[in-house]
Amino acid sequence: MLRGLTSIRKMSNVTKFDYLVLGAGSGGIASARRATEFGVKAAVIEHGRLGGTCVNVGCVPKKIMYSAASIAETLHDAKDYGFELSGKPKFTWKAIKDRRDAYIQRLNGVYDTMLGNAKVEKILGHGVFTGEKDPYPIISVAGKKYTAPHILIATGGYPVIPSEGEIPGAQYGITSDGFFELEALPKKAIVVGAGYIAVEMAGIFNGLGCETHLIIRRHQALRNFDSMISENVTKEMEDAGIKVHKFSHVKKVEKSGGKMTVMIQSSEPSGETVEADVECLLWAIGRKPSSDIGLDKVGVELDAHQNVKVDDYQNTNVSGVYSVGDVQGKALLTPVAIAAGRKLAHRLFDGQTDLKLSYDDIPTVVFSHPPIGTVGLTEAEARKKFGDDNVKIYKTNFLPMYHQMTERKTRCLMKLVCSLPGEKVVGLHMQGNGCDEMLQGFGVAIKMGATKQDFDSCVAIHPTSSEELVTLR
Ligand code: FAD
Ligand code: NDP
Repeated sequence: MLRGLTSIRKMSNVTKFDYLVLGAGSGGIASARRATEFGVKAAVIEHGRLGGTCVNVGCVPKKIMYSAASIAETLHDAKDYGFELSGKPKFTWKAIKDRRDAYIQRLNGVYDTMLGNAKVEKILGHGVFTGEKDPYPIISVAGKKYTAPHILIATGGYPVIPSEGEIPGAQYGITSDGFFELEALPKKAIVVGAGYIAVEMAGIFNGLGCETHLIIRRHQALRNFDSMISENVTKEMEDAGIKVHKFSHVKKVEKSGGKMTVMIQSSEPSGETVEADVECLLWAIGRKPSSDIGLDKVGVELDAHQNVKVDDYQNTNVSGVYSVGDVQGKALLTPVAIAAGRKLAHRLFDGQTDLKLSYDDIPTVVFSHPPIGTVGLTEAEARKKFGDDNVKIYKTNFLPMYHQMTERKTRCLMKLVCSLPGEKVVGLHMQGNGCDEMLQGFGVAIKMGATKQDFDSCVAIHPTSSEELVTLR
């Protein structure tokens, strides 16, 4: 452990730390807290609520709304299991929103306490690099100046809305941030996009009873996923009642009085334009990095998408300046930002000079209905990497026992991608009930280099869906 590094001291008008972190979200907080375990004097700069995207407008409130939509499914199935519910269950959006907001406020407090306990100094305000050095780059917050020999950029990102020039009236729409501000469930909504957020939010709206339209540019959602998943998630959404407008885009949005009219143009097959009056238009077309923080003044390089460029060790091109999390554009997931931030703290302050995060085999879940779990290479990626003759695929598609009793039928699909010889499992893709919770353990096995034979040598747990993964033929 490195004890007794530069203690906080004032030189002229610049406050100095050992470690200065810009952004108190998942990555920044994790890195700063870990650093203080090694005797480092650390500070975080934050202009919003503690906890960043995940806690305030991401994973946490999203998962709560996902759970609400899952309860709606269970209530729908209840009669098939012999329950008589008197009348149609009534859902009140505001009731869960208030409880959710209160929970998040508590979490903001928990983060505050954790930072206090770790003796991480909190600097509230918007931070920008000034271009000055003393002798390290200086960040100014509300006129005050701060610096450190080690500076971490962990500023995350923000959701994109098309410009007025691209789509007139686009600004009448909201993004995922606005979704969490909605005071009531819209009666009818349009979600635009084909990624994680579009799929998850369309699923929540639809599950809770809103007439939901999803506008996608191509024929499927989640096109970067294994083709089995892209195909199945699109079908599951349609089966669940979401109206998926394929090969379509929003042309124009108009608002007059309380009414919003969205013009949707489809390029295939008809090229027709339809108009829809909706209460909510939600853009879920991707996110941009929050990298407009004076980095040009200190010479930190950005890539073509404005992500902060880093090497495998999270170093930027400027010595002593690092970046983790969404702002560096790779694997935009909370546990990735946290793991990269913590590993960086160990590398800089705990003598583990070769420590870095491996971005291979990161398990990820899309909270669709039913959920998707995926880790490793897609079939297409494996074929490209190893060649067709060196890839073996194991697949299953079955109706889980739960749905043998229900009118609602949601199948479970699983695929193992193995490389030859040896049948090392290099990819696992699945969609079905429970796949979200099922993935983590299999992710450990894959990370350890498990083969198909290793999977098969583990005795199945019956009756579950996960047993299929150790009995595939
Ligand atoms: P952030 O958490 O965004 O933190 C950055 C912080 O920096 C923010 O608090 C911001 O206010 C602050 N900041 C920015 N610029 C400045 C500045 N100049 N001065 C001061 N402060 C500044 N990931 C998952 O793993 N699972 C999920 O289920 C999941 N669901 C999601 C759902 C939604 C709707 C969204 C939007 C994201 C979701 N994610 C999920 C992604 C996850 O939230 C992000 O990957 C994660 O929050 C990134 O952490 P970060 O530390 O890089 O950035
Ligand atoms: P994504 O990058 O996942 O998806 C955006 C998609 O929208 C694109 O893939 C593209 O699909 C489509 N798109 C892009 N531009 C346009 C456009 N102009 N018009 C219409 N469609 C467009 O972004 P998200 O915002 O959904 O999520 C950002 C990231 O946050 C995710 O990648 C993920 O890492 C993280 N996240 C993680 C979650 C989880 O772990 N469960 C949940 C939510 C977010 P196409 O090219 O097919 O049209």
